[in-house]
Amino acid sequence: MSATYYITTLGCPKNQADSREMERSLRRRGLRKAADATSSDFHLINSCSFIESARVETIQTVMEAAGLKRSGSEQKLILAGCFSERYSAAVRDELPEVDLSFGTGLYHRAGEIIGDRFDLPGRIQGDQAPGAAELIGLRQNEDVADDLGASHTPFAAVKISDGCNRGCAFCAIPGFRGAFRETPREEIVAECRQLAREGVREICLVSQDTNQYGGSPQGFIELLEELHAIPELHWIRLLYLYPDPRTEQLWEGIVERDLVWSDPLAGALSAAASGVAGAGGGRGKIVPYFESPVQHVSAPVLRAMRRYGDAEKFLKLFAKIRGLVPNVEIRTSLLLGYPGETEADIEAVLRFITEARPEKLALFSYSPEEGTPGYAAGDPIDAETKAGRINEVRLAHLDVLRELHRERVGRRVRCMVDQIEPGSGRIVARRAQDAPEVDEVVFVETEAAEVATAPAENELQVGDLLDVELTGFYEYDMTGTRIGSSTT
Ligand code: SF4
Repeated sequence: MSATYYITTLGCPKNQADSREMERSLRRRGLRKAADATSSDFHLINSCSFIESARVETIQTVMEAAGLKRSGSEQKLILAGCFSERYSAAVRDELPEVDLSFGTGLYHRAGEIIGDRFDLPGRIQGDQAPGAAELIGLRQNEDVADDLGASHTPFAAVKISDGCNRGCAFCAIPGFRGAFRETPREEIVAECRQLAREGVREICLVSQDTNQYGGSPQGFIELLEELHAIPELHWIRLLYLYPDPRTEQLWEGIVERDLVWSDPLAGALSAAASGVAGAGGGRGKIVPYFESPVQHVSAPVLRAMRRYGDAEKFLKLFAKIRGLVPNVEIRTSLLLGYPGETEADIEAVLRFITEARPEKLALFSYSPEEGTPGYAAGDPIDAETKAGRINEVRLAHLDVLRELHRERVGRRVRCMVDQIEPGSGRIVARRAQDAPEVDEVVFVETEAAEVATAPAENELQVGDLLDVELTGFYEYDMTGTRIGSSTT
């Protein structure tokens, strides 16, 4: 009986892509996936250490997992990823509950490392650091790559590069992820093809610095064109675009080539005269979703952070994208409480929120990170002030969001089916303007009688596209009713 594993993934979508890399390696080594963490022989936690709250979550997760071990099992607890990369000595000295830890550069060797450390019998395949061609071969090998966990959901994050050269003063990532380096295009395409075979219908392209991919916007678009040729994919989503002119040029190129997915119910973009057929009105598969973390809007704070831009530039960028891409929705993030930030800077942030009206907003509280350029400036703004500023901005954004929700009610939209709840007839769906696991979902009610009398209802699959009329909303999520049959 082969040993089993279970992976708990913390942090951002980039970590999900890394967890999949680990999973491949574990399966190549002959391990099987357990149904849950409790029943696994090896519980792997893919950690995050981006900010203080992420570190706290990692430690809490380790403690909870250690609780499972204490209940008498022989289970081994493995800590992987950012936290163990950054704090390897502390993990060794202060977290004895962890049986083994390794950093971000060894995801692809997880199976080999665990197998050797715990003397697991047998070896299915060599697990040395593979080259691109070798990786593609492994990824296309049905024996090891089938059902790699991604098939539980219709979406998957795919990492197109790692590391970052920007050097933002608050960020520790370049310190432990290293310089920017991209994944070869053929390797990304092979991974996406494999995921599509496994049932994935939406690919989210992730990295630390997405707009650097391909050396130029043109180079990036060549990758996007290749991904469009994967027939099973409905949607492609671009995440983490730095808010500078290169991002603007990238989107201009995407629109010029008619690569944007348009919702036929919204009648947005004209369909291309020819080309690969997408699941929307044109040939495009890039969803109308613009994620660009500005981090702040005050020029002095941004200069102190060693970041590009100011409120005016970001307003222009957002307006440009809204003009280029009909029905686009924007996600951005703000890091508040950076040393030197004043009440006037927060006023500028509040004005920006009401003018730019980003549909989605992530708010982070600054904490000094050891080894970053900003560390020496300390943490002069007290926690209470930071929390108050975050709350003020959050409430301002909730006002914007309520208005947006009111405008949405009654609209008809084509959504992706993320989950089907057996028995209740309830479907969890998601608009193209919402990223999986971070943005809103639509709870679609289906009449029980309809389920009983319409066999087609039962044929609906996760990953299908479904036409929905939006009927209401909660603080973030929405409700809807089904108005059309699924489109696959
Ligand atoms: S762009 Fe800045 S915040 Fe983002 S990973 Fe690079 S250094 Fe960190």
